[in-house]
Amino acid sequence: MSTTWLEVKVPGRVELLGNHTDYNQGLVISMAVDRYTIMRSRLREDHILRLRSLNLEETWQGSLNNLVPQKEQHWVNYVVGVLAALKEREVEILGMDMEIESSIPLGFGLSSSAALEVASLLTCKQYHSLDQEPLEMAKMCQWAENQFAGVSCGLMDQISVLISQRGSVNKIDLQSLGYENLPFSKAFCFLVVDSETRHQLVDGEYSNRREVCESAAKKLDVAYLREVQVDHLDDRKFDLSLEEHKRALHVVTENERVQKACQALQEGAMERLGQLMFESHESSKNNFENSCRELDELVDFASRHKACLGARLTGGGFGGAVVHLLERSKKDFYQNDLTSFFSKKFGRPPKIIEVNPVAGALNI
Ligand code: ADP
Ligand code: MG
Repeated sequence: MSTTWLEVKVPGRVELLGNHTDYNQGLVISMAVDRYTIMRSRLREDHILRLRSLNLEETWQGSLNNLVPQKEQHWVNYVVGVLAALKEREVEILGMDMEIESSIPLGFGLSSSAALEVASLLTCKQYHSLDQEPLEMAKMCQWAENQFAGVSCGLMDQISVLISQRGSVNKIDLQSLGYENLPFSKAFCFLVVDSETRHQLVDGEYSNRREVCESAAKKLDVAYLREVQVDHLDDRKFDLSLEEHKRALHVVTENERVQKACQALQEGAMERLGQLMFESHESSKNNFENSCRELDELVDFASRHKACLGARLTGGGFGGAVVHLLERSKKDFYQNDLTSFFSKKFGRPPKIIEVNPVAGALNI
């Protein structure tokens, strides 16, 4: 057994704008954040895979000859799924011990899942000659999450944590799969606040939103809502049910907001960026209807507070987190006020994480 442990490091990510646009082949702005999953590994001389998560304090062992989805220790799927994706590409994988430690809180919306998948792939890259391009790598990790973890995620998370550049945010086009880095000044930062609500039936609601978007696209004679403009949607609104129209209106206007936000970032117009974040939340709340009371209370507070430039729900919705844009010099002041508000309202202090843009795993 090799005594040398090798290490890879992969950041988390936050979705800044572009809510539920990914599976409509739309646009998103995201950034890799200064929280990391570290995977330490060493080769073995057999065909055994041993995994240990220091976060969960759990260990798992299995054979590389039998890479199948795991029911009891679900977290294992994010690693095993990636190895299975390599096997599908006929890569002969060697036995390994892999130890995982992460400062990305699990299930917070900062994509500890994509970080774990990408860490698994980059770990294998150290021992095997793999020549996949970044996009292909992202797709393999997405496949692992879809097929092994059973989560029907888009590609944004994996792309972000791989290709981000230090000090920038990225615009990702889920149709062309092109991406672009946009500047983000050090004078600003983001706070991610967990509402600590996870509504039941989220999976059902998520699939329902996807289906309604698909049926709206079909009735509008396009493959994906990405291809629809606001004027066109307005012209054809009677061809859609009220529900389809509302969902489509969210997606179509959200793509427009992403375009405007890119312009704002290029010009360093952070107030405009913040305004677009508030508008995004309004649209999620009223048109996509994937917000909830706790998220709305947080965004409402942010919109009334003069130190906060913008806030919106981030991720799937129906609970989860709110991302806030702030001038760095006002961060502590805002955080204190937010903590008192939240504690009074919900009877417990909020979980708040400051995040800043860092390089993706391929650029560290
Ligand atoms: P998010 O990606 O926002 O953190 P998800 O629910 O998509 O939330 O992914 C979280 C899941 O990923 C965890 O429940 C666990 O199964 C797996 N996971 C991520 N990081 C780790 C880790 N360090 N150790 C074990 N499992 C992890
Ligand atoms: Mg995830």
